[in-house]
Amino acid sequence: MNDALLRSNVDNRIVRQRDGLSPTMIPIAKPFLDVEEANAAREVVLSGWLSQGPQVTAFEREFAGLTGAGYACAVSNCTTALHLALLAVGVGPGDEVITSSHSFIATANSIRYCGATPIFVDIEAATYNLDPDRVAAAITSRTRAILTVHQVGMPSDLKRLLAVANSHEIPVIEDAACAIGSQINMDGAWEYVGKPRGAVACFSFHPRKVVTTGEGGMLTTSDSEIDRKLRLLRQHGMNVPDTVRHSSAQVIFESYDFVGFNYRMTDIQAAVGRKQLERLPEIVARRRVIASRYRELLGDIEGLILPFEPEWARSNWQSYCVRLPDHVDQKTVMQKLLDRGIATRRGIMCSHRETPYANDVRRHSLRQSELAQDHTILLPLFVQLSEDQQVYIAEILRKELQAQTRSVS
Ligand SMILES: *Cc1c(COP(=O)(O)O)cnc(C)c1O
Repeated sequence: MNDALLRSNVDNRIVRQRDGLSPTMIPIAKPFLDVEEANAAREVVLSGWLSQGPQVTAFEREFAGLTGAGYACAVSNCTTALHLALLAVGVGPGDEVITSSHSFIATANSIRYCGATPIFVDIEAATYNLDPDRVAAAITSRTRAILTVHQVGMPSDLKRLLAVANSHEIPVIEDAACAIGSQINMDGAWEYVGKPRGAVACFSFHPRKVVTTGEGGMLTTSDSEIDRKLRLLRQHGMNVPDTVRHSSAQVIFESYDFVGFNYRMTDIQAAVGRKQLERLPEIVARRRVIASRYRELLGDIEGLILPFEPEWARSNWQSYCVRLPDHVDQKTVMQKLLDRGIATRRGIMCSHRETPYANDVRRHSLRQSELAQDHTILLPLFVQLSEDQQVYIAEILRKELQAQTRSVS
């Protein structure tokens, strides 16, 4: 990792302007961008072709190469990616899709966009990901897809989920919004999330994720027919793309065979994404170092449960989620840390607790999901986080947990 870059003024200036935070404030996350990304965007602006074009095509090719996917299709964000993935495997009104409530609300919303119903199934306490046994028990004749989330970058148990799904011939879609660069050991070999093993995997390039294009998303699949559908769906169902018409010496009339969407990524975003993708191995390696340092610094705090990484999984550590001892109040800890200049976030939300889903019929217990939301916090983790800052975070957290423990005993 380039130290000069880590300390770069450009970077600090950006963060201060955006959050209005003092220079000593440790944010929860920070994108890792530099002049190379800025120059890439500049070149596209000056090129005269700004919408989905050659940069998007190159970004897709490079993304497919990295993940080992047959096909990659870029879109405007991961929420639209999820919507298209569900449509492409045939999810429609009246269908049920089994998914996790314990996820960003976009996961559940994408199912609703199709007129289908999310059937929330509980997570495993250790990994915060869907419990394959509970998924198996939740399958009905109306189940049209399983939407699994690789929460905060920790791979979900794809092997077991696929065994369940395949025995019922139900497609699996991966919400890999946070999981670019995460790896799974499938058949004795490590592969990237997004290869993909299910029908489609969906990624996000929001600044809160591991690499960013401001907004952006990507779908990977090994099925050429699904890829063809995705490309039509993202562009109004237009049968001849504008890029083809633009470069043709013949007059071509396009047609629109169904109601599609405008979910395109711009070439400006794609150019930034290509630079980010080059940095990905370095970014993930650095995040793994930070995560293992947290383990060393926090491992001996009584009652604090650190993230569990199954032996078949390698997280990209999009977030570092710790479970607080039962008697500790989540909000108080977060406030105390904030008072000392450390930003945290509470555990991942539960969609079934939000208004749009509060009145849904709930068939399955979501106890582990609720416990995870109420008893975990996310600690700062970003490439530029220094060793000193980590030591400081660990010290403040340790003191606060000790103080709360004393006050109950
Ligand atoms: C961030 C996120 C999304 C949404 O991604 P966008 O690109 O912001 O639309 C979906 N699912 C999960 C699990 C996420 O973390």
